[in-house]
Amino acid sequence: MNGVEIQKVLVADDDAVNRDVLGELLKPEYTVLLAKNGAQTLERAARHLPDLILLDVMMPDMDGYEVLRRLRADPLTEHIAVIFISGLDRPEDEANGLKMGASDYITKPFNQTVVMARVALHLQVVRQRRMLERLANIDGLTELANRRRFDEVYELEWQRARRSGRPLSLALLDIDAFKQYNDRYGHPAGDRALRAVARLAAGAMRGPAELAARYGGEELVLLLPETGADEARQLVSQLREAVLGLMIPHEASSVAQVLTASVGGATLEPDSQEEAAALFEAADAELYRAKQAGRNRVVWRMAP
Ligand code: GH3
Ligand code: MG
Ligand code: MG
Repeated sequence: MNGVEIQKVLVADDDAVNRDVLGELLKPEYTVLLAKNGAQTLERAARHLPDLILLDVMMPDMDGYEVLRRLRADPLTEHIAVIFISGLDRPEDEANGLKMGASDYITKPFNQTVVMARVALHLQVVRQRRMLERLANIDGLTELANRRRFDEVYELEWQRARRSGRPLSLALLDIDAFKQYNDRYGHPAGDRALRAVARLAAGAMRGPAELAARYGGEELVLLLPETGADEARQLVSQLREAVLGLMIPHEASSVAQVLTASVGGATLEPDSQEEAAALFEAADAELYRAKQAGRNRVVWRMAP
């Protein structure tokens, strides 16, 4: 993320003149999208995920209030900031719009300078919110999802797997003899090695549904929805080999002359009666077995 990223504003108004005035006003500073009715607003919002919507309250077919309700009901669009623009200028209308979750309420006829200032203000709030979200969910050292984020996603994916009857695989990867690595090469070098392993883990994920997170210390967790045991095991085996392939010298390791990792994994099969915690515990138990068996290997829980 960088500071010069151009933010996207969707202008929704059934009145072509209003739309054009607002569009022209915003164009020099933002990427502007236009919509002329409620349905188009929802469609463009879902497709382009604008940072902010300037939403006319009075539109035929579907009014701005209904558009806002539907935006908030869809997880994809629920957080998009909305500023109502309305010819209804009674205090009750304004209070009502704000109560519904709009960030602001601008009455028509509007002053262009004030519109620009309010848009800039709310876009700044959007940027700050994103940054906070990032800080809350991303591990600073590795830039992987952190444990908090993992816990959240794990709960959702576990329930989804239960509903869909699709398998869910989970693997724990732990760097071998990492204490010795730090002792021998220093903590900063340890950090670099950990980041390198984290990058490999992130790179091994095949799509947005798969998650590599830092569970803690030098332990990563991989969550692979809709992935059966064989496929998951193959994926993490390649990852283990890739860690070896980094060829990071580790003279103090009794496992190999380079940095290695051990992985324990387990798969939630559709018909099992396991609890969410049990899948994690199974992977953890297999990780322990991988360590006991000599490290630098993958051990997967066999279906009972
Ligand atoms: P094992 O093969 O059994 O996993 O042994 P290990 O030494 O890797 O495991 P142990 O749990 O004994 O030690 C983990 C080490 O990982 C100790 C800790 O200092 C180091 N570590 C944890 N987080 C970080 C980190 O963010 N940076 C660095 N450099 N080291 C870390
Ligand atoms: Mg209108
Ligand atoms: Mg370790």
